[in-house]
Amino acid sequence: MITIDGSMGEGGGQVLRSSLALALLSSTPLRIHKIRAGRARPGLMRQHLVAVQAACTISDAEVSGAELGSTELEFRPRAVRGGDYRFAIGGAGSTTLVFQTILLPLLLASSVPSTLGFEGGTHNPMAPPFDFLERCFLPLLARMGARVEVGLARHGFYPAGGGQWSATIQPLARLERLELLERGQIRAQCAESLCASLPGSIGVRQVDALSAALGWERAHCRPRMVAGTRGPGNALIASIESEHVTEQITGFGERGVSSERLAASVADEVRRYLAAGVPVGEHLADQLLLPLALGSGGAFRTLEPSLHFTTQLELLKLFLGTEGVLRQEGAEVWRIDVPGIASSHASR
Ligand code: AMP
Repeated sequence: MITIDGSMGEGGGQVLRSSLALALLSSTPLRIHKIRAGRARPGLMRQHLVAVQAACTISDAEVSGAELGSTELEFRPRAVRGGDYRFAIGGAGSTTLVFQTILLPLLLASSVPSTLGFEGGTHNPMAPPFDFLERCFLPLLARMGARVEVGLARHGFYPAGGGQWSATIQPLARLERLELLERGQIRAQCAESLCASLPGSIGVRQVDALSAALGWERAHCRPRMVAGTRGPGNALIASIESEHVTEQITGFGERGVSSERLAASVADEVRRYLAAGVPVGEHLADQLLLPLALGSGGAFRTLEPSLHFTTQLELLKLFLGTEGVLRQEGAEVWRIDVPGIASSHASR
């Protein structure tokens, strides 16, 4: 059994979710304590509990401590079984984070395909928005050989939630190596402001302000009214599509933050990414580490590593003995090289 201190590094939900994924893939029983001790409301919230339940469901695991507010969990997985599963968070907790908990186990440790249905939040602050999953993260996984399709039926914004989407995962024997050292030519720079049950003028002001701040063509920056949601919501998504990677920077509208201020903060992040010249942005960086380490390894250039990133690296060392090599190459340029367990098995 491996014991993880949930307050390590970033000390949030990611330590729990990555530990569950790594326990499933290494068939290791897991004990995790001080869950989310670094957060204002520690312990399992609905979204984390659903991630634990999802991990249990796909592996018929024995579990104790799987309750709301729990700060300690014991998880004993059995073999991962692909299949047809449905996971509902109830509120607006992030479904994309639940998906990322079970994606790699269903991809790499199951012998049959899976069809997944999700209900809950699809566009949440502090989580990968559905668009990011579809346009940034999954295309890179596809380059590593994965066949994963996703489709959005209904947007779910905080706080009402109620989004719906589905995913299909074809099992794969091993993920190929991924090298993402250059961004290549920039092919498109565009933005979308999603507005649900809010005045359309919000979307127009956001894209006006963003295109003006970045000098992007206004015709490529579009406001979009989203119908059929359970409650109001607003997200401003800036996309930079390059030859080798697509990066998206998302800002979420909130009461008291003007459309212009939101656009200015998204524009600042876009400028930082463009100026650094690296292919991989902050969020994609921490999300790529597990697929690389569990597959055939790889390398990429990115911005200054976040605490999420360094925490993932630590977890890889604890579960797999994987030592990533991180080097600073410039003021805003870092390079990470990650060995993969699939390639080390193959060369044994
Ligand atoms: P945690 O805060 O521990 O629950 O982990 C949050 C996860 O969501 C990390 O993998 C972040 O990189 C990811 N994330 C947060 N915000 C965004 C965003 N705007 N776009 C993409 N991924 C995000």
